Amino acid sequence: MDCLFCKIVAGEVPSETVFEDDAVLAFRDINPQAPTHILVIPKDHVASAAELEDRHAGDLVAIFKAAAEIASAEGIAQTGYRLITNIGREAGQTVFHLHFHLIGGRPMGWPPG
Ligand code: 5GP
Ligand code: ZN
Repeated sequence: MDCLFCKIVAGEVPSETVFEDDAVLAFRDINPQAPTHILVIPKDHVASAAELEDRHAGDLVAIFKAAAEIASAEGIAQTGYRLITNIGREAGQTVFHLHFHLIGGRPMGWPPG
């Protein structure tokens, strides 16, 4: 499988893991856009949120629960944070393995540019 994040899941590409369970891996983004910038991904490959099927339901709940736990551990649960998933080229998706950016630790504007 020629997928960067599958290689990170397999341990073939190093990453700074902050959370792991049976379904989910979370690791620090290599190019952080905020004091906390963590990628939360399903271990099972799916290209984007547009490709989700019924069988992925459990993975999604696990991802959102993991994100809340990580936000608490990072000390940003009270101040707030974003969970963002980019879908496709114009949205800025560059890695085609579903991932949620957990971004926090600074104020953020809206709408995104
Ligand atoms: P996207 O642009 O697809 O929404 O997000 C991909 C993210 O993956 C980017 O924020 C980018 O910095 C991050 N990224 C790309 N390659 C690596 C890598 O090898 N390791 C880590 N930890 N993050 C990566
Ligand atoms: Zn993958």
